[in-house]
Formats: sequence, structure tokens, C-alpha cells
Amino acid sequence: MKKTALVSGGTRGLGAAIAIYLRSAGYAVAVTYHHNADTAAEFRKNTSIPVFCWDVSDYAQCQEGIRQVELDVGPIDILVNNAGITRDAVLHHMTPGQWIEVINTNLGSVFNMSRNVIEGMRERNFGRIINISSVNGERGQIGQANYAAAKAGIFGFTKSLALESARKNITVNAIAPGYCDTDMVSAIPQEVLEKIVTGIPVGHLGTGSDIARLVVFLADNASGFITGATFDVNGGQFMA
Ligand code: NDP
Repeated sequence: MKKTALVSGGTRGLGAAIAIYLRSAGYAVAVTYHHNADTAAEFRKNTSIPVFCWDVSDYAQCQEGIRQVELDVGPIDILVNNAGITRDAVLHHMTPGQWIEVINTNLGSVFNMSRNVIEGMRERNFGRIINISSVNGERGQIGQANYAAAKAGIFGFTKSLALESARKNITVNAIAPGYCDTDMVSAIPQEVLEKIVTGIPVGHLGTGSDIARLVVFLADNASGFITGATFDVNGGQFMA
């Protein structure tokens, strides 16, 4: 029987590439989104991958949404915590709302989603949880104290859950992408983006497939010895 993968924020950007690569690798795949229904409908039409709408920053919605995915698609064997947002501002202008929205969406979601799949994975003695962090969670970034804090928090979560789950054949890993060509990055002013690209040793932005290929590798049954790790996919921009 096909294993089932759930990708949060999988209707566009990196998540969409991850979902398509996982499907090509033979998994039954479902994706979530939150606001952008037209993009989700388009993704569904183009790929036939089922889409589910809920807010990953809300625990009760994750609980109900995952119950529905498991009824419609199957027990979740692979969870990719990919959904994320930015609400950039230097700290002396950052509002409590910008802080909390980014923490809850980028880090709270990782708890909300993982908590609702982990018991099933433990019972079935198999699981792969792949958390999408960021290079800016490793090195910090001006205007992103909220985002960098959330993305750095993912590393501690990943290692702790990896330790708790290791004897149950459940691996938990983090990927820290550098700047990739998605809507999130196209929101950066052109002149700032040009400067950023100048600082990337390979000389260009990453793509969805750069990240998705690694997700497929980590999801594999044969990748069971890799856990608690962080993978930098950033064109050489930051070397830990
Ligand atoms: P995009 O902005 O292109 O897409 C974000 C996705 O997340 C969308 O599907 C969006 O749904 C969904 N989403 C956002 N908020 C919520 C929510 N509250 N509940 C459910 N779904 C939500 O992002 P990217 O593809 O660029 O980024 C994907 C991940 O990779 C993020 O975690 C990001 O932080 C990380 N990352 C990205 C980098 C980049 O350069 N692009 C670099 C480093 C890390 P909807 O369409 O409905 O809004």
C-alpha cells in the first residue's frame, strides 16, 4: 500500500514542488493551504492532489484537519511542516501582532501538526517528519527577529522529537533553505533582492526542486539512520 504524505502550505512555492515530487516518488499526497483558494483550486486542477483548507497556527483546526485527511487519503506516514509566513519589521517597529502571528504560524504549527500525527506514527512504528526552517533561523536577519526566532525554534523541536521517536522508526529532520524563487521572496524589493543574490556563492536563487529532492530522500524508508539533522540548502550562503 502507498504511504501517505501531508505537506502544509503545499499549494504554491516550495510546498507545491515538495508535493509534486513526493507524488512522483509514489506517495499518496495531500496538501493544505489557508487563504488563497484560487491558487489551491488551480493546483488541485493541475495535479489532482487533494487540497485541504485550515489554519496551521490553530491547534483545534489541525486536529480536525488531520482527522479528515486520514479519513480521505490515509494514515499520515510523512509530514512536511512547510507552511510559513513573514511579517518583517525591525524590532523597534515590530508590533506584538507581527511577533505572535509569525511565531504561531511558523513554529506553533510545527507542534500543532506533529502532535496530531505522532501517536499514529508511534502505533504504526513508522514516520518521517520534515520541518522546513530557514537559513535566517541559523544566522538571523535584519527585520526578522520574529521569523528567525520561529525558524531557530524548529531546530530544538526537531532534535527533541527525534530523540523521543528514534526507537519507533520515526525520523525527524530539518531543512534550512536559503533564498528560493517563490512568492515569499518576490515580495522582497528588487534592489534588496539583487544584493542578496550577490551574496549567494552559486550566484542565483534556489528553486522548489532543490528542496523537494531532499525531502523525497529523507522521506524514504531507507533513510532511517538520518534523524535530528539539519540540512543546509542555500547555495553556499551560510555554512554552519
Ligand atoms: P509561500 O509564501 O510561497 O507559500 C506559503 C504557503 O504556506 C502557502 O501555501 C500558504 O497558503 C501556506 N500558509 C501560510 N500561512 C498558513 C496558515 N496559517 N495555515 C495554513 N497554510 C498557511 O512560501 P514559500 O514556498 O516561499 O516557503 C515555504 C516554507 O519555506 C516556509 O516555511 C518558508 O518560511 C520557508 N523558507 C522559504 C524560503 C524562500 O526563499 N522561499 C527560504 C527559507 C525558508 P495560502 O496560499 O492559502 O496563503
